[in-house]
Amino acid sequence: MPFRAITGHRRLVALLSRAIAQGTLPPSLLVAGPEGIGKRRLAMAVAETLNCLSPVESPDLPADACGACAQCTRIARGVHPEILIVEPDDKGSIKTDVVRGINERVAYRPFEGRRRVVVIDKADALEPQAQNALLKTLEEPPSATVFLLLTSAPDALLATVRSRCPPLRAGRLTATEVAEILVRETGMDEREARAVAASADGSVGLALEAAAGDVAAARTVAVRVLHQAARSADPRARIDLAKTLSGKTGTGVSEREQATVYLRALASLLRDVSVMSTRADAGVLANVDLGPGLEDLARSFDSERSVRAFTAVDRALGALERNAGDRLARLHGAAEMKTRNGVLCSFPKPQMLILGVVIRTSALEHSRVSCR
Ligand SMILES: [Zn+2]
Repeated sequence: MPFRAITGHRRLVALLSRAIAQGTLPPSLLVAGPEGIGKRRLAMAVAETLNCLSPVESPDLPADACGACAQCTRIARGVHPEILIVEPDDKGSIKTDVVRGINERVAYRPFEGRRRVVVIDKADALEPQAQNALLKTLEEPPSATVFLLLTSAPDALLATVRSRCPPLRAGRLTATEVAEILVRETGMDEREARAVAASADGSVGLALEAAAGDVAAARTVAVRVLHQAARSADPRARIDLAKTLSGKTGTGVSEREQATVYLRALASLLRDVSVMSTRADAGVLANVDLGPGLEDLARSFDSERSVRAFTAVDRALGALERNAGDRLARLHGAAEMKTRNGVLCSFPKPQMLILGVVIRTSALEHSRVSCR
């Protein structure tokens, strides 16, 4: 994929293109940014542009791949012998022997193409020993080879490795950009894509995950719940609302996954409502396709209240994620996790988390119902 075909990341793409055109691309780079925003695509565009047989230039992009020559097509098909992609194994780690293999390969000049590109995807999965093995190569960069380390957790890398790789930050995509990619690459219809993208927090990866959870429907429910929560001061009504959000789950979707989809929809709506109440740039609204429905909602929430509600949703999402992590840890034998009383931790159920959110979102400011 050439640089010009990449959606979003304009500044970063221009920077990489310029560095390639001027021959100043460092021998190793760390591309850091959230999951699912297209770091791998950026890396592949670098690989194509470095090796393209008939590169093209434009005012914005002084060097770009043609996307059609033998080199470009082989790279795009994943069969180019000098483009090496390293990924975590089944257990989620990249082991030392994999890195040793890479070190051996890069000791020789590239056989085909002008530049070898080593892409280490999810570089934070490199085991410490593997990082040390890689470090030796990064310290004495082999000729004609570029290392691209991609990660959403740069801090998980050893400081010594980071110091060898100038960092580039790849930010989240806008909801419009995510929708654009979904329409182009999954054939999703535009309306659905916009609804899915609105709750995807700038990540195509999250959007695709969420699409499985029927996000458009979740958003409809979330709008209704916010409307009712804004008016309701009756505790019973609020518990009913929480039930609406945490109730039915479809086949194959866990209670936690479903709750996550609803909470992301709520977060996205509340973020928009707070943008509207502060009269900030309407261009950043994620749910703009809701039209008057969104304005209607904004009238029920002043900025303070929407921020408070958003914080509650955000915390609940964090708790759900930790919850999943803790469960996983327990499955792996970390059963010694105990509370102060010596009892095994009990984790907040999705339903309780959502009740907490509804309480903090609804009309009664200081509820006596306590809910973590
Ligand atoms: Zn080409």
